[in-house]
Amino acid sequence: MILLNPGPVNVSPRVTAALARGDLCHREPECAALLDRIRTRLVEAFAPTGGHTAVLVTGSGTAALEMAVTSVLSERGRLVVAANGVYGERMAAIAAAARLPHTVVAGPWTEPPDLARVEAALRASDVEALAVVHHETTTGLRNPVPELAALARRHGKLLLVDSVSGLAGDPLDVGACDLVVGTAGKCIQAFPGIAFLLVRDAVLERLVAYPPRSLYLSLATYVRHPMPFTPAVQLAYALDEALAELLEETVAGRIARYAAAAAALRAGFARLGLECVLPPAWRSNTITSLRLPPGRTYADLHDGLKARGFVIYEGQGWFAREAFRVANMGALTPADLARFLDALAEVLG
Ligand SMILES: *Cc1c(COP(=O)(O)O)cnc(C)c1O
Repeated sequence: MILLNPGPVNVSPRVTAALARGDLCHREPECAALLDRIRTRLVEAFAPTGGHTAVLVTGSGTAALEMAVTSVLSERGRLVVAANGVYGERMAAIAAAARLPHTVVAGPWTEPPDLARVEAALRASDVEALAVVHHETTTGLRNPVPELAALARRHGKLLLVDSVSGLAGDPLDVGACDLVVGTAGKCIQAFPGIAFLLVRDAVLERLVAYPPRSLYLSLATYVRHPMPFTPAVQLAYALDEALAELLEETVAGRIARYAAAAAALRAGFARLGLECVLPPAWRSNTITSLRLPPGRTYADLHDGLKARGFVIYEGQGWFAREAFRVANMGALTPADLARFLDALAEVLG
């Protein structure tokens, strides 16, 4: 089955094989070495100029996101969340669940955040951090992180970036961010179940001194001890292998491969008369949102394609009525994409 959903993704046979490296007690030095190597490889891949530390957590991307959001504020702090999709809203929901003061700057899902409104929200004296989504998976919109980072810097606020669907898919200057959240199971091409934070060293000490809002997800717990609870050892094997593969391909190479895949798909969609929801300038390298053709339902398209070996993805929220998504993350070849476009042409009749 070819997965054209934004994670879990198709992984290489080499990554699948790594699951079977063998049984391992997580209290043995081999496991510590494995997790150390993963953290080193994450920094090598995404923050190669140094200054950031990787923190691993067993759980899906949302676990690491919850760790970041609940660890970024002092007892007196407030978080500003720029939300133009489901994942911005999710960070606000995490803050709400933890009873953390937060201000949501909500905007239309099909546009980047309004920088003037974000800046106005940052002016409140209790604000300590700005949270943004790098790649809004809801629509496939790449948010302007450099501009948002400049605003945060100008006002002396920390910048927290949800790059769960962005890292290794679209360029991100991690050096300009204080906390970046990522996951194994999307553009890194490993399995879901391990997620991580890249935290700026210069702020780490301050953050771990804040009161913990959670036991399992407290950043301080993981900084003091890299393995406080049982990690998903076999998934770590696969992540280790996927990172070796990524470093061989290089992050820039992976991003270029995804950009080429998206371009090939979008040219094919245009030939089939399908219309993209977003203008070209805002589109990420890994998700294309398309308007449902008149008279066709998502279920129609999905079931026809699944019968031919391809899984596409529904829209989220109100978006589901109007649009559907095709992702191109994972170990996909140009031939896979060409066969998908043929299958889509057949299903569209
Ligand atoms: C996938 C995703 C998440 C986390 O989802 P999980 O299902 O918890 O892995 C968070 N943010 C974005 C932008 C995502 O695409």
